[in-house]
Amino acid sequence: PRLVREAAYTYVRPDGFEKSELVGVSQAALRDLAIDPDTVDSEDFKDTVAGRSIITLDNGTEPGENDIYPWAQCYGGYQFGQWAGQLGDGRAISLFETTNPSTGTRYELQLKGAGKTPYSRFADGRAVVRSSIREYVVSEALNALGIPTTRALSLTLAPQSRVRRETMEPGAIVARFAQSWLRFGTFDLPRSRGDRDTIRKLANYAAEEVFGGWDKLPAKLTSDSDSDVVHPGTGVAKDDLQGENEYAENRFTRLYREIARRNAKMVAYWQAYAFTNGVLNTDNTSIFGLSIDFGPFAFLDNFDPNYTPNHDDHMLRYAYKNQPSIIWWNLVRLGESLGSGDRCDDEEFVKEGVRKDWADDLIKRAETLIEATGEEYKKVFLAEYKKLMTARLGLKVCKEDDFSTLYSELLDTLEALELDFNHTFRKLSYISTEQIDTDEKRKEVAGTFFHHDGLSGLAGSEADARTRIASWLEKWRARIIEDWPNSPEAREERFKDMRAVNPKFVPRSWILDELIDRVEKKGEREVLGRVMNMALHPFAEEWGGDREEEERWCGDVPRYQRAMQCSCSS
Ligand code: AMP
Ligand code: MG
Ligand code: MG
Repeated sequence: PRLVREAAYTYVRPDGFEKSELVGVSQAALRDLAIDPDTVDSEDFKDTVAGRSIITLDNGTEPGENDIYPWAQCYGGYQFGQWAGQLGDGRAISLFETTNPSTGTRYELQLKGAGKTPYSRFADGRAVVRSSIREYVVSEALNALGIPTTRALSLTLAPQSRVRRETMEPGAIVARFAQSWLRFGTFDLPRSRGDRDTIRKLANYAAEEVFGGWDKLPAKLTSDSDSDVVHPGTGVAKDDLQGENEYAENRFTRLYREIARRNAKMVAYWQAYAFTNGVLNTDNTSIFGLSIDFGPFAFLDNFDPNYTPNHDDHMLRYAYKNQPSIIWWNLVRLGESLGSGDRCDDEEFVKEGVRKDWADDLIKRAETLIEATGEEYKKVFLAEYKKLMTARLGLKVCKEDDFSTLYSELLDTLEALELDFNHTFRKLSYISTEQIDTDEKRKEVAGTFFHHDGLSGLAGSEADARTRIASWLEKWRARIIEDWPNSPEAREERFKDMRAVNPKFVPRSWILDELIDRVEKKGEREVLGRVMNMALHPFAEEWGGDREEEERWCGDVPRYQRAMQCSCSS
């Protein structure tokens, strides 16, 4: 373990397990990476995803330049609000980049748990089976739900290996991929060292290689951002931005805004689908706006805004309700880093035609930039959240009052009555307006939202609960009637639309626990494929497996397994 300065990565060779077993491959991942499914059975594939063999390429240039050799990334991070110094890929090793020829999308493929790197500090570079199963399933589940995320290609177990945690446990390797593994912490670290040169290199790399070029970033606030902010960070009138100064004036601002917008959208998805990351440190926040780092994550069962899946998060810093503001807190750190790199007093910048007197101005403007981007972040978040909730409720438009009278009231009701979040939306996807056109009927239907073993003790009387749900159903019904024609065809279309956004299956903690127990302790294998198949098709009605098992996993969460928490040990 060592401090690595003025570099963003280190070449390192994976140390795979000698004996291992490939137990799962994501079909969706094969498709997106354009890997021929037949190659999966080859020793070559198995050895590569188990870290036993590497793909190298010597382009005959200077060592490192354009060659392919595995590497681990260098980054730092703020953990629970405190600067934690250099962290880096302590147990992740990237193998290569690959571009899907039909979509043109480029991915960076890496192994998690394939041994030590210069960033391992005093840990072992390994990952245990339970956390690897969790990451493998949830990455692909989130992607299938339409939520921006890093992905998982395969899961390899090493049942004979022993990794020391609280007890000795077998190890595993997840082959995972993403359009970028850059984190906010990648920028935090050079900033903490006053290394502005590296910040600039990283920013250029992000803009040019990850986002596909400076021209792909927002040139000025776009109409879809629905924002009245003009030129965040500059305070400069539009006319002043023409000509030679435009480049420098807008460069990092545009990159920052792109990152902020992507993260706003991502966290809107998390809130709309009740997903909690659990450890939203800046090293676990993606430049590309992806859900990243799956430690003690969870989907909420009962709707509880204060829920955190992280057993050790006593302050509830990373609780469900705090996620949008925490992502923003992280974005402020990133703005400070980019701001400190965006100095124009260097020679190269002066050469590019930037007026020197603007340089120091830019520093002062960093604050304005962050503030203005904050407004944009809020707007993008709200617009995305409204869009998702509108669809989840089967509405076509979001009306002025919907937010308070429909969304908030539903959430308040779910919270007060301790009802299941994602099940509620799926249940609504089967209710016709005729089924709830009288108060009596609504109170009857209200009962279907209860848990199978009744209301929780804290939810009050059953009669009151029915009245409360019924009154919300009445408002919802009125809005459905406003948005949809009154015909059997329209009803079927709404059902179809709603069931395409309201999953029947989400990999909740209790299911992942059962899966881990069966795979790790009982040696089962097929069950992993069955859960994965459901995770890849979360909106289906059935999956062609054991019907009873499928319905159990889609059904009510057993009372004592609701809102489980997880430790950070992985
Ligand atoms: P996380 O809590 O997963 O975000 O990890 C924080 C930091 O600890 C990252 O730099 C990880 O690479 C590192 N880390 C966690 N577990 C291990 C391990 N078993 N071996 C090496 N590094 C680790
Ligand atoms: Mg991490
Ligand atoms: Mg982690």
